[in-house]
Amino acid sequence: MNSTRLLFSLLAALAMNVTMAELQAEGPPIAIAVHGGAGTIERGQMSEEREASIRAALTAAVEAGQAILAEGGSSLGAVAAAVRILEDAPEFNAGRGAVLTAEGRVELDASVMVGDTLDAGAVASVRGVRHPIDAARHVMEDSPHVMLVGLGAEQFAQAAGLEFKDEDWFITDFRAEQLRSIQESQSRGETQLSESWFSTVGAVAIDSHGNLAAATSTGGMSNKRFGRVGDSPIIGAGTYADNRSCAVSATGHGEYFIRHVVAYDICARMRYSDISLEESADIVINQVLNEAGGDGGVIAIDNQGRVTMPFNTAGMYRAAIHADGRLEVGIYDDETE
Ligand code: ASP
Repeated sequence: MNSTRLLFSLLAALAMNVTMAELQAEGPPIAIAVHGGAGTIERGQMSEEREASIRAALTAAVEAGQAILAEGGSSLGAVAAAVRILEDAPEFNAGRGAVLTAEGRVELDASVMVGDTLDAGAVASVRGVRHPIDAARHVMEDSPHVMLVGLGAEQFAQAAGLEFKDEDWFITDFRAEQLRSIQESQSRGETQLSESWFSTVGAVAIDSHGNLAAATSTGGMSNKRFGRVGDSPIIGAGTYADNRSCAVSATGHGEYFIRHVVAYDICARMRYSDISLEESADIVINQVLNEAGGDGGVIAIDNQGRVTMPFNTAGMYRAAIHADGRLEVGIYDDETE
């Protein structure tokens, strides 16, 4: 707790007749945010049912993470639980429901990072792993490495006892149709839908010990080349957490997020120039990335539990439970608070 916060808390405690012991038991704020991707998401584009299930999944994810934090659990546990729910929700581009490669297959990437030790884990181009976020967490906790790819990552996940599913289990009709229409428009020389619409999932949180964590999971970009890896499993690009500044999970056109090291840049600008998280994330997403032509957004949380969720696209699937307990769920840009 910083000195201003402590002073305010003391005054509030006096006013409410709360003892110092009760005040300290309260601890630092807990908060969590999740995303389900950014892009050309405009009102009226999707059915009411699809919109309702997206909002319900985002709410379920953020509430599951919050429940862990409220019991004194770790931010790592909270972000992993939230991402597992979004990986299973077929609406999002992660786990079941992930986008397809040009050959119609599913290749998954995920990463996780904790802000107290800067420990991190990632997997890329894995097939069949139901929860790639768990595989990334195992890499972090049970190996000396930060990233494993392909067959090596799959064997590692198998040895860790993680659940595997047939490749067909991951493929939804929606993604098969999306691939077909992208490939058709590509053959007519039109803009690819895959470059304007992303639905990677992610979560960031702060726990009652003041520790930050971030997690991201994706199928990458629709119609991607076999073996292509985006920003989501790259520590510093799609995911970053550092207790000295903030935790970030990104979604968008991965190649741009890698080139601009987006997640790390947001945290580094905060540390080096003493600006707020909101300012830092706004500069990186709405200036740096925009000028470079990179579409997307981030969810981010600082070490005081303040959340920001900027994006330079028409919309971003997002939800947060703020430090004051307020639930925020949004899709379109006019819902930004
Ligand atoms: N960032 C992801 C990637 O480039 C795509 C997404 O956000 O949906 O792999």
